Amino acid sequence: MTSVSPHKKAKALKSTSRRPAKELCSECGLCDTYYIHYVKEACAFINQQIGGLEEQTHKRSRDLDNENELYFGVHQDMIAARKQQPIEGAQWTGIVSTIAIEMLNRGLVEGVVCVQNTKEDRFQPMPVIARTPEEILAARVNKPTLSPNLSVLEQIEKSGMTRLLVIGVGCQIQALRAVEKELGLEKLYVLGTPCVDNVTRAGLQTFLETTSRSPDTVVHYEFMQDFRVHFKHEDGSSETVPFFGLKTNKLKDVFAPSCMTCFDYVNSLADLVVGYMGAPFGWQWIVVRNDTGKEMLDLVQDQLDTQPVMSQGNRKEAVQQSIPAYDKGVTLPMWAAKLMGVVIEKIGPKGLEYARFSIDSHFTRNYLYVKRNYPEKLAAHVPEFAKRIVGQYKLPE
Ligand code: FAD
Repeated sequence: MTSVSPHKKAKALKSTSRRPAKELCSECGLCDTYYIHYVKEACAFINQQIGGLEEQTHKRSRDLDNENELYFGVHQDMIAARKQQPIEGAQWTGIVSTIAIEMLNRGLVEGVVCVQNTKEDRFQPMPVIARTPEEILAARVNKPTLSPNLSVLEQIEKSGMTRLLVIGVGCQIQALRAVEKELGLEKLYVLGTPCVDNVTRAGLQTFLETTSRSPDTVVHYEFMQDFRVHFKHEDGSSETVPFFGLKTNKLKDVFAPSCMTCFDYVNSLADLVVGYMGAPFGWQWIVVRNDTGKEMLDLVQDQLDTQPVMSQGNRKEAVQQSIPAYDKGVTLPMWAAKLMGVVIEKIGPKGLEYARFSIDSHFTRNYLYVKRNYPEKLAAHVPEFAKRIVGQYKLPE
């Protein structure tokens, strides 16, 4: 007699049903599958367990007394890199898509979980298991919205695949690691990106409408290391808006509550992380967490220009000043915002110090948000590393 896995008796939620994490749900997709059976343990917003899952994944949790590990998680290497021949239309230079394509072409994996967009809407996420390079390329560029990447998990078991690459952001990867053993895979590779301030599709519309001169033609945007949001439009033109000119008062409620309570900005549980914020302007930032991550990066080394990571400036004062400014929803007039952008770009934090600036600003804001809105969750939900980071600053009540 064959035994049935306990999760197979569970049933995915209907898309309209209220999620177990309620308003804190980040729509990672787990509850769209029978793996909902494990949600109470696996959900990043019901049961924060980064430390334990770091040990499971990397064989140790981060060393809190080492500043780079405190901020960027367990790692064996960090570099700045860019593709010698960038992929047209990728978010940055396409390192993520290139690694995924190499892994498929060399037979390391049979499929890649990634997220394309729907035909009707370039920002509406559509998770897939890609089995060809073309399908991976069709998933390039950020869908800057909550995305149910894990909704395809049931298909994996049905397909009989045993070697898989999953591309995803922190909340998706935390849930994935929690159910990893149940997937019946021979080998799972995880390629992560950092993630912060994500929004629902409706929230994205509000952001575009309050920030861009032409919201409907935006094909791509990024909050970059020069303290500006860079928009790219359909006609190839670009637009920049200084961070300090954002309409904070209007944007305060745009970010998803899950993202306002998230402390896994750097995707602690991926094998390899590819972002930008620890690298000089125009470069990508790569964090190799373990041997599996190194194996993945080695596949594309000959296609990359690289340089060591650097760090310059001092973020602390700027972070401390930003805390009450954000809290009160202060918005500068555009001329002052532009001026401030120019000054801070010249003298402000760069490289790893810019990454720490961004982590500090978001963690202090999120800590206050949890304290005010979910005080009962504060002790268990905020990881120890985040408590230490936040502890460096004076916070309003
Ligand atoms: P590409 O080759 O263009 O591939 C992008 C990959 O991302 C695709 O494979 C796709 O499947 C996946 N993807 C797209 N949207 C989503 C999504 N919503 N959820 C899960 N996977 C997705 N980096 C930083 O350093 N700092 C940040 O603050 C930061 N914020 C981010 C916020 C979001 C919502 C996302 C999705 C990414 C963020 N990143 C951030 C990562 C960065 O923007 C790039 O994605 C990364 O550097 C890879 O660039 P690339 O050109 O190599 O990717």
